[in-house]
Amino acid sequence: MKNETLFISDLHLSVTRPEITQRFLRFLKRRASDAERLYVLGDLFDAYLGDDDNFSPNREVKSAFRQLTDSGIKVYFQHGNRDFLLGESFARETGIRLLADYEVIDLFGVSTLITHGDLLCTDDVQYQRARERIRTDAWKQAALSKPLWLRRMYARWYRFKSGLDKRGKTAEIMDVNPEAVRETMSRYGVDRLIHGHTHRPAVHEFEIENKRCRRFVLPEWGDGETVLCWSQEGFRTEAIE
Ligand code: MN
Repeated sequence: MKNETLFISDLHLSVTRPEITQRFLRFLKRRASDAERLYVLGDLFDAYLGDDDNFSPNREVKSAFRQLTDSGIKVYFQHGNRDFLLGESFARETGIRLLADYEVIDLFGVSTLITHGDLLCTDDVQYQRARERIRTDAWKQAALSKPLWLRRMYARWYRFKSGLDKRGKTAEIMDVNPEAVRETMSRYGVDRLIHGHTHRPAVHEFEIENKRCRRFVLPEWGDGETVLCWSQEGFRTEAIE
């Protein structure tokens, strides 16, 4: 095991894209098994309907995570907007640890803020309003109390509707708001941020109060995905075979 920490997000695993699931399972087995920690920063699943959903790819992903954590690798998960219904039983079953929407971690001596990224897209007022409504315990409980087949139908409708909504939004609206980034990084007292969600992989450099800051944006999976790999020597982005 190497002293490495890996970051991935936005795999959007779905039964309709089995090749991505296969690549991910291979990644867990051959690559993540060699690291010390793996952080999954949300949207692991394209639609997550509840921990009682044991259909593919959930079943395979669960057992692969279990194998990984049993071998001593620490796996952390932050919710994305697609898989925020992932809950404690998934965590218990797999041995992964669920994190809050914002977490500050010690990454080889540097405080680093990690988050899925959707909270930083404050220009999308419509999305933020909906998010506030559906992320309450009451809403989640009500949703999870519905039969799985009904949740599946609802998810299909939601995907269709969200596709329609996106057509009316500009690229800027769906990216992070620079002011929200600054404000959040200052609030947490960090000069390094790692997130996903926007599918615009990059390393942004900027200054906050004369301090050099960096924001790492992780890519989505499906077209030349990479893993952000951190070690004592620094970071590198590594292609996923
Ligand atoms: Mn997302």
